[in-house]
This record gives sequence, structure tokens and C-alpha cells, in this order.
Amino acid sequence: MSNRIQGFKHSGFSARTWNRQHATRRKALLTALLAEISSEALRGDSLESILKRIVDCVVNRLPVAIASIILLNDEKTHFVQEVWSGELELMLPFEPPWSVEHGAAGRCARTGLPQLISDTASDADYIPGNIRVNPEYLVPIEHGGRLHGVLNLESTDASFFSAEVCSIFDAIAAQIAGAVHLARIVRELELANARLREWSMCDGLTGIANRRCFDQRLEETWQTHAASGKCLALLFVDVDCFKLLNDACGHLQGDEYLREIARVCATFISREAALVARYGGEEFAVLLPDCGLSEARLIAGRLRRQVEKSGLHHPCSPVSSRVTVSIGVCAMQPDDAVDATVLVDTADRALYAAKQAGRNRVVSRRVRRAVRGIGQKDS
Ligand code: GH3
Ligand code: MG
Ligand code: MG
Repeated sequence: MSNRIQGFKHSGFSARTWNRQHATRRKALLTALLAEISSEALRGDSLESILKRIVDCVVNRLPVAIASIILLNDEKTHFVQEVWSGELELMLPFEPPWSVEHGAAGRCARTGLPQLISDTASDADYIPGNIRVNPEYLVPIEHGGRLHGVLNLESTDASFFSAEVCSIFDAIAAQIAGAVHLARIVRELELANARLREWSMCDGLTGIANRRCFDQRLEETWQTHAASGKCLALLFVDVDCFKLLNDACGHLQGDEYLREIARVCATFISREAALVARYGGEEFAVLLPDCGLSEARLIAGRLRRQVEKSGLHHPCSPVSSRVTVSIGVCAMQPDDAVDATVLVDTADRALYAAKQAGRNRVVSRRVRRAVRGIGQKDS
């Protein structure tokens, strides 16, 4: 996104035409402009588009040579974005961001007060955006005590900024402040929602993906693989004799071990698009897209050894003095005729077989031909 949203040249309302209008007509024009800007400010559009339409409106309806909205950063130390429109080119010597220590706009932001500069040449702070412009009116854009920026209006008509005109610009600045405030609330809500979505997919104890995330990813991957004809593999990794470890060392120590095992699994599975999730309790699931059974079996074997190598002491396991895992492996070509429970069920049965066979080992199962409800498996 550019920091300066450019305006365009057009034939604005000339100073001479404006001055020829009857006072009642001018009042009516100003009121109509305010109404138009109020409705623009409430449009459900991007903030840049809203601000651009507002400055266009001002320049099109009034003898304003340049209108710009200059937005501040959250710290209010710098102007970070300028949206402008004008029949004259805006030729500031610098691009945003620039410090509020500079310029008449900076003074407006620092003081929080409108600045009417009837003779720009004699104003020490004034930085010309275009040398043909004189006078200038600057209004703080503020909502609920929070300063969002400055509305900058420059005319070539020396007498244009009457009290009546200035009060309309004050009201326009208030409308702009409302629009900026709304946009910031929407942005903050979107950020909070994204954070919530992330949290809802994350396991609180281990920090890896949780069961909800796994189920969602499995469903998506199942669909894409059914379409592409690629093979999908699943590993169920279950800690051996974990209950005994809890009983001997306490639940808090057990929690520490679960965190470490999750870390070992997540670090070891570096394959792109793979997902390591805590399936529940002391059981983890590893989803391996585009992976056949023999490759999945290799990965499972290495992972099993990696957990054993991590050297977590198990004081009372009948299997080993270290913490070990049993892994059930399944791989298959997803098929529209069945759902992903075939894969989950088969990997689960493989895990059960690994436990039955003595633990600390890998057992794999292939689903040869998927049929509605349940697959047929190798033994
Ligand atoms: P097996 O080798 O057959 O898998 O035996 P196991 O003891 O690991 O399995 P079992 O299902 O009998 O017990 C699982 C244990 O895991 C019991 C439960 O208290 C423990 N567990 C589940 N979730 C957590 C957790 O979040 N923290 C801790 N510390 N323990 C947990
Ligand atoms: Mg277990
Ligand atoms: Mg278990």
C-alpha cells in the first residue's frame, strides 16, 4: 500500500463561482456536502477508498485546491499516510512517514487545535504542497480523545475560509474521525478473531496442533487427495506405559514429558505440508500428505528411534528405561466413496497391534480397496 494515495486533477468549484453564490445557496451547498460526506463515512468499504472519496467530494464541491487527510501512527509521533485530491499537484518535499515536529499539520497534531493560516508565506511552520496555494485550514481528526490525524485544506481564494466554511470542515473532520475509528475497530476485531482462530486450533499443553485442527486438516487433505489420486499416510504415536510414569513421577512431570515428546515429534517431522497434532491424552497423530506406505513406515521407524534417543527416563516401564512410543501406520489413496474414518480406524488398529506385539515398535496397515463404511486391510 502506498503511503500517499494520489489525487487527480479536475475542475473544482472555482473561487469566483463560489463567491457569486447567494449566502443561502452557499449554506445549502455546505449542508449538502456534509450530508454526502456523512454517508460516505458510513460506507462499508476500505478506509482508503472512503477517505479518497471524501477528499474528492471536498475538492469537487468547493473552491478547495488541495484537500488531504494525513493519518498518524498509533504513537502519534509521525504522519504515516496521506490521502489527497486536488486540482493542483501536491508536491511535498517528502513522502510519509514524517515527524509531527514538522509543518503546520504537525503543529495542528501537536496542539490538537484547528489552524487557520490566512497567509501561508508568513507562517514559519508552513511547508508548501504547492506554491500557488494560500490560505490553508487544518483540523485535527479526533474521536473520543484519540487523535487519528489531520484534515488539510488549501485554497487559492484568500477569503474562502470564513467562520461558516471552517465550521463545516470541523464537522467533516468529525465524520472522518468516525470512519477512521470504525475502520480501526474492525481491524482490531479481525486481528482478535485471527488470534482466536489460531488458539482454537492449538493444544494448550504442548503448543502443537490440537484434535480440532487435525480433524479439519484430515478432511481437507482427504478431499484434495481424492481428487488428485495421491496417497495419504497417517501415523498414530502413543506413549508406552504412560500411566505408570504418571503414577511414579506425578502428573506435572508427565505433562513435562508430553511437551518434550510433542517437541521431538514436531521437530523431527520436517516434511512440507505434514501435520503433527496431539490427538488426545498421550497420543499424537502425524498426517503425511503425498506419502505411500513404505515411506510412511520409514518415517515412523525413525521417529520411534528419535523419541527413544531423546533420553527421557522412564522409572518403571517394562519396555525400556527410557520413554518409548508405539506407532500405528496406515496409508491409502483417498476415495470419494468412503470417508477419512477408514484411514483413522486402520491406523488405530495398527497401533493396537503394536501394543499387543510388545510396544516400542511400528506396525503398518494398508487399505487395499476402499469400500463404503470400512476398508479391507492387510494383515
Ligand atoms: P499403553 O502403553 O498401553 O499406551 O499404556 P498407557 O499407560 O500409556 O495407556 P493408558 O491408556 O492406560 O494411560 C494413558 C495415561 O495417560 C493415563 C492418563 O492419566 C495419562 N494422560 C492423558 N493425558 C494426560 C495429560 O495431559 N497429562 C498427563 N500428565 N497425563 C495424561
Ligand atoms: Mg499410551
Ligand atoms: Mg493412549
